Amino acid sequence: MAHISPAVRALTAEMTERRRDFHRHPELGFQETRTAGIVAERLRALGYTVRTGLGKTGVTGFLAGGKPGKTVLLRADIDALPIHEEADVAWKSQNPGRMHACGHDAHTAMGLAAAEILAKETSSFSGNLCFVFQPAEELLIGAEAMLKDGALDGIQADAAFAVHLMNRFPVGTVAIRSGAVMTAADKLEITITGRGGHGASPHLAIDPVVATAQVITALQTLVSRETPPLKMAVLSLTTLQAGTAFNIIPDAVEITGTFRCFDADLREKLIASLKRTAEGVAAALRCTAEVRNTFLTPAVLNDPAITRLAQEVAVEIVGRDRVIEPEPVTGSDDVAYFWQKMPGCYAFIGSAKPEWSQAPAGHNAKFDIDESALEIGAEFLVGAARKALQA
Ligand SMILES: [Zn+2]
Ligand SMILES: [Zn+2]
Repeated sequence: MAHISPAVRALTAEMTERRRDFHRHPELGFQETRTAGIVAERLRALGYTVRTGLGKTGVTGFLAGGKPGKTVLLRADIDALPIHEEADVAWKSQNPGRMHACGHDAHTAMGLAAAEILAKETSSFSGNLCFVFQPAEELLIGAEAMLKDGALDGIQADAAFAVHLMNRFPVGTVAIRSGAVMTAADKLEITITGRGGHGASPHLAIDPVVATAQVITALQTLVSRETPPLKMAVLSLTTLQAGTAFNIIPDAVEITGTFRCFDADLREKLIASLKRTAEGVAAALRCTAEVRNTFLTPAVLNDPAITRLAQEVAVEIVGRDRVIEPEPVTGSDDVAYFWQKMPGCYAFIGSAKPEWSQAPAGHNAKFDIDESALEIGAEFLVGAARKALQA
């Protein structure tokens, strides 16, 4: 059993209700006006100095303690996904084609609960609290948008924390690791261009479809042949668009995909290899390849000292044997942009129900959580903030 303080217990019902309300009303990245409105109103009522409209729909809340001291930042993401919910829950999404399938509804509710508990302690603590409610995490562009709008200008946090629910781990566990936690991410767009013509006369056309098949196969050597075996990289080509009819060779083929990697130098090298390989293979087959990569987010790197502190807090809540040190995750989170500016720790809160033999994964239409993870997440945020202010 997790050790949940009376302060968190007193808010459990309200926090759960708030999470279900956000779940019923999911909003996509940069469209989170209802969610952001509720967050801003709540933070103002608790006495925070609130700024809104940061990175379109981001919100920050700042609160100074009774005495000067350190600054601690807590970050929650607030956006949902373009998924039509299939989970059988009473608080099912009321917005067709929109769903909180990644738990950001819970992150927002836990953040508000932590904001409330910590606000009641202001007179007794030294230092400052800064809450960041970030939009568009799923697009991996909300954090940078907030920073560009000056969300953290004048704020130098000594420690920062964020949590993410994770169905990979059972409820009652907390998973924390130091160093690399989540990968850097690039979006890839590749156009292979030939010259269209009749399917019956390929010799009079330049077929970009056959060239694309070879480019795709050749690109699979980047990870298998050019990545040092003890380092990791992921290259997935995920959409392919070509042609209009069975007897027409198209002019061009469009490919999109994603590239993930922890190591910044390796990333640069492989992106260059990707361009060289696509262009070279396409050229050998009389086509051209144009590779466009959009760097979305750096890797999430947890600070060793802040991570140690976070692990201590987690041990106090769930016990030593239920604090897991997970493998790095090949997903990404643009909280990385914040962690580049301050020492931070990003932790996973186990949220799988004990009775599930196979927990629904994040981004699945049947995604659901064990709501008792909310108490653990809120307790962790509060405990980590308290400890970092005292450190
Ligand atoms: Zn997600
Ligand atoms: Zn998420």
